[in-house]
Amino acid sequence: MEDAGALPIEMDVSSMETGQVIEVYPHDGKTVDLKTGETICEWQLKTPVILDEVRAGGRIPLIIGQGITRKARAALGMDGDLSSMFTLPVPPSGKKPEGFTLAQKMVGRACGLKEGEGILPGQYCEPAMTTVGSQDTTGPMTRDELRSLACLGFSADLVMQSFCHTAAYPKPVDVETHSSLPDFIRTRGGVSLRPGDGIIHSWLNRMLIPDTVGTGGDSHTRFPIGISFPAGSGLVAFAGATGSMPLDMPESVLVRYSGTMQEGITLRDLVQAIPWTAEQMGLLTTAKQNKKNIFSGRVLEIQGLPDLKCEQAFELSDSSAERSAAGCTIQLNKEPIIEYLNSNIVMLKWMIAEGYGDLRTLERRISRMEQWLLNPTLLEADPGAEYAAIIEIDLDTLTEPILALPNDPDASATLSEIANTHIDEVFIGSCMTNIGHFRAAGKLLEKVDGALPTRLWVAPPTKMDEAQLVEEGYYSIFGKVGARTEMPGCSLCMGNQARVADGCTVVSTSTRNFPNRLGKGANVYLSSSELAAVTSILGRLPEVEEYKAFMRETNSSAADTYRYLNFDQLPDFVKSASSVEISDEMKEAAQKLQMAK
Ligand code: SF4
Repeated sequence: MEDAGALPIEMDVSSMETGQVIEVYPHDGKTVDLKTGETICEWQLKTPVILDEVRAGGRIPLIIGQGITRKARAALGMDGDLSSMFTLPVPPSGKKPEGFTLAQKMVGRACGLKEGEGILPGQYCEPAMTTVGSQDTTGPMTRDELRSLACLGFSADLVMQSFCHTAAYPKPVDVETHSSLPDFIRTRGGVSLRPGDGIIHSWLNRMLIPDTVGTGGDSHTRFPIGISFPAGSGLVAFAGATGSMPLDMPESVLVRYSGTMQEGITLRDLVQAIPWTAEQMGLLTTAKQNKKNIFSGRVLEIQGLPDLKCEQAFELSDSSAERSAAGCTIQLNKEPIIEYLNSNIVMLKWMIAEGYGDLRTLERRISRMEQWLLNPTLLEADPGAEYAAIIEIDLDTLTEPILALPNDPDASATLSEIANTHIDEVFIGSCMTNIGHFRAAGKLLEKVDGALPTRLWVAPPTKMDEAQLVEEGYYSIFGKVGARTEMPGCSLCMGNQARVADGCTVVSTSTRNFPNRLGKGANVYLSSSELAAVTSILGRLPEVEEYKAFMRETNSSAADTYRYLNFDQLPDFVKSASSVEISDEMKEAAQKLQMAK
């Protein structure tokens, strides 16, 4: 709303009657009854800067106006003090905490603060946007915004455009977007994917620099390394064009895992354990009226799983969108990040060899990754950091899968509570999946003799996952059981492409199960790929022991199943990458950026 120049006000309306005529006094912070003049409630604007934003017609015109004023004053030999002309943000008052959270430090670094210092909750800031993502349903709007900003070149270090939401079943308007948007992005120095390449996040995550900040027009732009604050198309365009973004630093909620993963438990169960535990603690409710959600508008910060691979970490950060969190951080050790970046460098070089552009941006990003690898250090939360809440999850006590119930990703149940529920269709796909999930599903399905009692949909996240699964023979397993394999991309998760049958009951690995998203009147449970595959075989949710028996059979080959796409170990990618040389100019540019962080 602030970006549109509106005046958002939060007030207590419990003493208001329908039909009562009121007067609102934004400067005084009160609402009065027009007839009696009696004050109904008092409130505060989120920040007094909002009044300037309204006057300017939105947050972006105000920032641009301030920038021009600053430059004009400098040209006239005047100081940079704007306080007589603009209402400037005031730092939060009160006692300073004894430390900063990981998110606060990342944003602090992106704002140019001294190393290790952070931005406190409530503080207005404009962090540098190192990576910006745009997907195809909001891409045309972002293009319009970029035009209105007269943007001829991106200032953000890397802007990437995807076509994952519309590639499989394009409408005429999508076909036009597919042909015109790539050039628009590339000529401004951005990187454009191609229709059929796959899901935005599975690509963008592979272009990230650790501990940096970014944004994206897709609400699931949730970096597994660094942090992103997803935004509307106007702010995304602004971030791409100027290389920074206005942000009121949110508070953080800490989720801390401890203990050991139990038999049959998957990372997806750890994801659902977050709302499940928060509900038990009274921090989250599922009733629509007076809904409580401790995560809403806050940063979800995750500790206790430092050895996760970055692909796994994304399952956790991705799901922070379902919690309505503003962003997410995951404290990882440097080893999985080193492994990820070494792989990603080869993937980016392969992209250059395959003719993707913008060439200079890809070269610069490769060089930045190489620079980081020379001295791989990571920011960490301080012990004295303060959180709005701390949620402890003991893995020793998680002994059975947890699913999201129809049709609310916050509503959770353990498998034993809903075992034997009849299921019509199963979807394995979305940005919550990676190649390991499809191998696991394939290994479970391999033993099926004949047709499945369910309709099974399979959609890998990227074309590289698809090619690897074909090469390893998994597509022949999916074909043999009659699964419907979809083009890499969002598929059923997006809900605007193929759909499940009206009114059917579904188990899905996708991100969210809001009413009618996957199909009209569909009842959708969210689960792990492993549980989804077992369900597709049985035509119902299994009993816990039945599920564990299936999992035991595949556990012996877990090391083979949960291998991720390490491009630096795939001969075809290594061969393509070896033909790519990075220019000295981009090496130098990357070095400067990396030193400035
Ligand atoms: S898979 Fe679903 S959640 Fe992920 S980007 Fe696509 S539509 Fe969004």
